[in-house]
Amino acid sequence: MTFLFSDTIFGPVHSRRFGNSLGINLLPNSYKVCSFDCIYCECGYTLVPPEKREDMPTREWVAESLEKKLRNMLSEGNFPDSITFAGNGEPTLHPAFPGIMEDTIALRNKYFPQAKITVLSNASRVHNQEVRMALLKADYNVLKLDAGLEATFHLINRPPKDLTLQKIVENLLYFKGDLIIQTMFIKGIINNQAFDNTTPEETAAWLSLLLKIKPRLVMIYSIARETPAEGIVAIPKTQLQNIAHMVMKTGLNAEVY
Ligand code: SF4
Repeated sequence: MTFLFSDTIFGPVHSRRFGNSLGINLLPNSYKVCSFDCIYCECGYTLVPPEKREDMPTREWVAESLEKKLRNMLSEGNFPDSITFAGNGEPTLHPAFPGIMEDTIALRNKYFPQAKITVLSNASRVHNQEVRMALLKADYNVLKLDAGLEATFHLINRPPKDLTLQKIVENLLYFKGDLIIQTMFIKGIINNQAFDNTTPEETAAWLSLLLKIKPRLVMIYSIARETPAEGIVAIPKTQLQNIAHMVMKTGLNAEVY
């Protein structure tokens, strides 16, 4: 079963990570658009290539819908902690993402100046200068790093063939440490190939990348819902906590969800 957001503006939902979080889905409401095809993605497999996408909400529609929602929330005394770009895929693939970020900041400042703007992204478009400048305006950039080894990155995240882990790390370095890394730990068998990104070899490689990136926080979690690929197993909380300890021993912050 897949989980898709059926609206452009959704929630607010209570999020353990982001508090009272009002979501913005810049992707279509009926299918996922992403530059990755992660084997664990709650939105299901990537069936439509990003270049064939249609039905993205317009910049004007996003701003109008967001303003309407924020006005309602203000009249109800319902204060968001975060306005969060998430939803059915990778938000930075929206061609008007930089303009939408500007509108969102202006609306946040008008209605709830204390709310944070958060972006959940896979970091695949940070090398694009306009996208990067827009991301740098967010309060929290939460960027994905699920592997320290190239082969594992391709097995788990299934990016386009020419997008390497090294390129993703270069993109993460643009933030100069002002970012949050989120890492999904899983194991199992995919296409008759066993994998496990929690082995000592995998975590050592991942940790060495974290030490270069120097994020302000590392969010560690495992699967909580059904995944599109069969044969994926969740990592127990105790093991996730051991990994978090390993991160904290280096002086970085880590939290398990
Ligand atoms: S990056 Fe996110 S949206 Fe894209 S496939 Fe992976 S989990 Fe799904």
